[in-house]
Amino acid sequence: MIAIPKNAAAILLLKDPQDPKVFWVKRSEKLMFMPGFHAFPGGQVDPEDLHTPVINCSDEEGAIMRAAAVREFFEETGVLLIEGAGELASETRKAYRQALHEKSTSFKALLETEKLVIDGATLEASGRWVTPPMAPRRFDTFFYLTWLADNQEPHIEEGELTEGEWIRPLDAYARWQSGEIMMAPPTLHIIQTLAANCHQPGTLKPALVAISRATNGDIRRMEFKPGFFLWPVKTPTLPPATHTNCFIIGGKELLVIDPASPYEEEQKTLDTLLDGFIAEGRRVREIILTHHHPDHVGGVNYLSQRFGVGVAAHRLAAERLAGQVKVTRFIEDNELIEFDDLPDLRFRALHTPGHTRGHLCFYEETRGYVVTGDLVVGIGTVVIDPPEGNMKQYFNSLHRLLALPKLTSLYGAHGPAIANARLKIEEYIAHRTAREDKIFAAIEAGATTLDEIVPAAYTDVKPGLHPLARRSTIAHLEKLVEEERVKQISDERFILANDR
Ligand SMILES: [Zn+2]
Repeated sequence: MIAIPKNAAAILLLKDPQDPKVFWVKRSEKLMFMPGFHAFPGGQVDPEDLHTPVINCSDEEGAIMRAAAVREFFEETGVLLIEGAGELASETRKAYRQALHEKSTSFKALLETEKLVIDGATLEASGRWVTPPMAPRRFDTFFYLTWLADNQEPHIEEGELTEGEWIRPLDAYARWQSGEIMMAPPTLHIIQTLAANCHQPGTLKPALVAISRATNGDIRRMEFKPGFFLWPVKTPTLPPATHTNCFIIGGKELLVIDPASPYEEEQKTLDTLLDGFIAEGRRVREIILTHHHPDHVGGVNYLSQRFGVGVAAHRLAAERLAGQVKVTRFIEDNELIEFDDLPDLRFRALHTPGHTRGHLCFYEETRGYVVTGDLVVGIGTVVIDPPEGNMKQYFNSLHRLLALPKLTSLYGAHGPAIANARLKIEEYIAHRTAREDKIFAAIEAGATTLDEIVPAAYTDVKPGLHPLARRSTIAHLEKLVEEERVKQISDERFILANDR
């Protein structure tokens, strides 16, 4: 099911009009939404925000959102963006912030006690962005621009956020260009706009809302890295995923990775995106596939005909697609994919079997990010179903990614982008290893058949899902047999290798 967006509000706080800087934060790796991303302080609307008075704001929705933005900003940074708040002793503000964390007071009560009122006129509406549909958690976020009016200094407490700093917008943009940090599309657009306009404050707001994406429009054209776009399309994929991420990479010449949707309506959205690129003077060079599964190739024939371009895939994927999709070129392991006009955009194809035999990942060598297909995904779990799936190869492929010289972020075929590649892959390995340990322990305890092993090793999984777990168990058993830790004594019976 596609998640319904929740209301949220965020603040773009600027200071020093002569040499403008914006305050931004890094989100904790432990958060469910955009872990490890750089963003602006803010958060979800709370019911009490509906009752917080805001002056100089005629629209009701705007008043609620501004109340939420100011409250969240105070909770996250300790800065209270209300006229007169700077006169409160810093200890007093600190005590209030603590009390809010402990929920021993409310924000509304704080404002009443200190006779402070939020002034809507000081918080300029600067965009509204909705998380695209492929994310498991989605927000409809209202952004407000304001300048620091007193000498309060933000302070981040380790928790949901791990870092906070004042940064010149141009420096923030350079850090994104180098591939060093992750920003979601709204943050990137805001940073780019601030970099171009912050010396003329009057031009800021119109520039911030000049594109439809910034005013509640479709934001699926997401440029996560220079020359690297993500466009999720709806596909008949496995729940909880609803979409497959299609990637468009390059400059003047574009490659389309996994044009996945068989649905006409979704193909049309991709057409619109690509037509936009073509209007910018670009052209489509080739279609590339991560692997042969139907939720990755549904739109390939349509698109290759539309642009008269070839389709490239691993030889083993091409074999599986015979009769359905014509693969015109094989991609070999370690092949380098380059672009004449963008010498620093270099994708290394990595043959990464495990989920399927002919699975490819694409490693961008300059900035260290990887298009991971179904090897690592941002939502749900990866199915390893023998004989196409192979658990030992799957582990090897995960370890191959971990060993890459530079490893930053991951872009799976489903779900959101993954900011911390290493953490996610280590999590995957730990999770699979724990499952394998349970399977081994079950056999050690006397289980010999799949009917005995599956319930013993999957006590944490609903019996309804045991048929799927059974396929995984077979994959783990194959690996354990290959490693000579388990012995297969008949079609369906397994014992420890050192038992007789
Ligand atoms: Zn797949």
